[in-house]
Amino acid sequence: MTKRLTYKELLNYYQLFQDFMDHIPDVIYFKDTKGRLILVNAAHAKGLGLKPKEVVGKTDFDIFPSQRAERMNKDDQYVLKTGKPIIDKIERGTRPDGVDNYVSTTKIPRFDKKGRVTGLVGVTRDVTKRMQLERLREERKQIEKKLQMLEDLNKLKSEFLSAVSHELRTPLAIIKQLLLLIYDETVGEINDKQREVLVKAKENIERLKRIIDQLLDISAIEGKRLKLNYSLVNFNELFKDSQDFFKEQAKKKNIRLKYDLPKKEINIFIDVERVIQVISNLIENALKYTEENGQIIVEVDMLETKVRVGVHDTGIGIPKAHLPKIFEKFVQVAEKDTPGAKGLGLGLAIAKEIVEKHSGEIWAESQAGVGSKFYFTLPRFFTADILEKSIKDKIRNLLNQGAPVYLINLLIVNFQEFTRRIGIGSQQLSRDLKSILDSGFKRFPKLKHNQIFISDIKHGKYSIIFPESSEKRVVTFCELIRNRTKNYFNKHKIEDVFIALGILSYPAMAKGVKEEFDRNLNIKEIYIGSEVRRFKRINYKTDIQISLPNEKGYVSSTIDLSLGGVCFLSQELLKTDAKIKMKLFLLKKNTLITALTRVAWIRKMDLLPGENFHRYKIGLEFIRMDRQDRKSLVQELKLYYE
Ligand code: ADP
Repeated sequence: MTKRLTYKELLNYYQLFQDFMDHIPDVIYFKDTKGRLILVNAAHAKGLGLKPKEVVGKTDFDIFPSQRAERMNKDDQYVLKTGKPIIDKIERGTRPDGVDNYVSTTKIPRFDKKGRVTGLVGVTRDVTKRMQLERLREERKQIEKKLQMLEDLNKLKSEFLSAVSHELRTPLAIIKQLLLLIYDETVGEINDKQREVLVKAKENIERLKRIIDQLLDISAIEGKRLKLNYSLVNFNELFKDSQDFFKEQAKKKNIRLKYDLPKKEINIFIDVERVIQVISNLIENALKYTEENGQIIVEVDMLETKVRVGVHDTGIGIPKAHLPKIFEKFVQVAEKDTPGAKGLGLGLAIAKEIVEKHSGEIWAESQAGVGSKFYFTLPRFFTADILEKSIKDKIRNLLNQGAPVYLINLLIVNFQEFTRRIGIGSQQLSRDLKSILDSGFKRFPKLKHNQIFISDIKHGKYSIIFPESSEKRVVTFCELIRNRTKNYFNKHKIEDVFIALGILSYPAMAKGVKEEFDRNLNIKEIYIGSEVRRFKRINYKTDIQISLPNEKGYVSSTIDLSLGGVCFLSQELLKTDAKIKMKLFLLKKNTLITALTRVAWIRKMDLLPGENFHRYKIGLEFIRMDRQDRKSLVQELKLYYE
């Protein structure tokens, strides 16, 4: 049994309905079977510039242009005659203010108790935004399809380039060999004129080979096939082999070529061949674009956490407008014809890729007619405190007994970050590495017999001391461990991990003792890691105020911060090594600190779609800071580490 509503309840319901009709932005109307409007809401009338009451009794023909009314009437007739609704019918229309829009119309028939149609209720809604979104989505789909097509094409091009280059290499090598046979007079005597011709031919073959190699490199880069082979080297060694060659080349053009290398050893993890390629490319360019009587300086600087190489020349320079483009593929900007071989404009693009794959930066500064400075950085490796006091004491005791001692250090660089990256968990990783070591001992039971094993699982350090062993055995053992570790990482699909075996001197000894030790202490080190940093960096978003000497300062936003320096985004391109005063707001300590800094490295950011200004990531190294400010910085960083 249905309960009758009280008058008050009815009034209440009516009020709710009225509120609904007054405030909903959609147009709502009720029509009878003749198409006459019997009730409309505020939005309906407002669209016509009328009050709801003024619309009642009218038909669409009274209030709309006849064409439109006709269309609406057709839909009304359909609903009234068939008793079926029309739902979400999208049409283009024009708003009362003349703006084109899209509307969605829904018309639902109303029935009496006997099931006869008595009229309809209609709702019309502006869906322009929805349609715009849908159109955007459709456009995006189309763009994505095109992009995929372009990517496929690009891949095809890369593969084609790679295949062709490979095919060209072999016959070229054969031609070179054949020419050499003539040159060496293996196949008969030749005269000086002929020899001259052969030298020219050989030079051109070499040029061709360089071009082919560059094409292969570019196709490897595009196909993401460029892999690095890390090893631990003394960075200064990299310049030794090629120095004579480049000095000879420079002499031919009467250019002064100077090397400014640090006296200290710089141990660094890099792909030696690839980094030599970068250095050679920069020096070759400097030689190519510097006229007679010019000067070229190759310098190496130790930064706090990186090594920086600079190649400076007094050559033709690069106009400012072209500078941001020179690291792109196939870009050549030299205006006048330079003597010597013309390249493809790939050298710097390849150099950029190699450097960035090493987590370094590469950039250039230049002034047309004055000269150019090219720089690149590579992360440095720190060997401080690998040996702890307890280990040192053990070694000392053994050595005092007159035994030769071999020490293997297996060190996972930046252990915490590393475990996070590979997602195994430090406990599991430690266990796995320990079992790799154990499996090694199975092959060398004699080593096991004498070994002293020291591990610092928390920091990813393992040391094994082998007294009274033979060098050969220890080296083979090291190689075995290295290979097994490598396989282990490969199995876990962890790429770009460097695992290297290096022999280091023993830096932490007192002077007199050291010489004594050197005779019978042998240290082998195995390093594993993904990234090496001396100062822990944290992501840190705050404002930084930069003041340049004699210039207006500006405010920019930071990216990360460490005890060694700060990295920030800038639209201005700062000069390498420029001294800069900086103010930085510490978020947690709520204070402003100041420091004198220098521009250590620069990275040009890729342009985002629609962006038309360049942005640079700039690394500042702290040179000087007040004691109080330094303290604040240390405390601030501590708060973030915890
Ligand atoms: P290329 O094979 O043309 O030398 P690179 O990628 O090595 O290709 O260099 C790209 C362009 O950058 C060069 O064509 C030249 O215009 C400019 N460039 C590179 N190094 C220098 C330099 N030391 N001095 C002046 N211009 C340079």
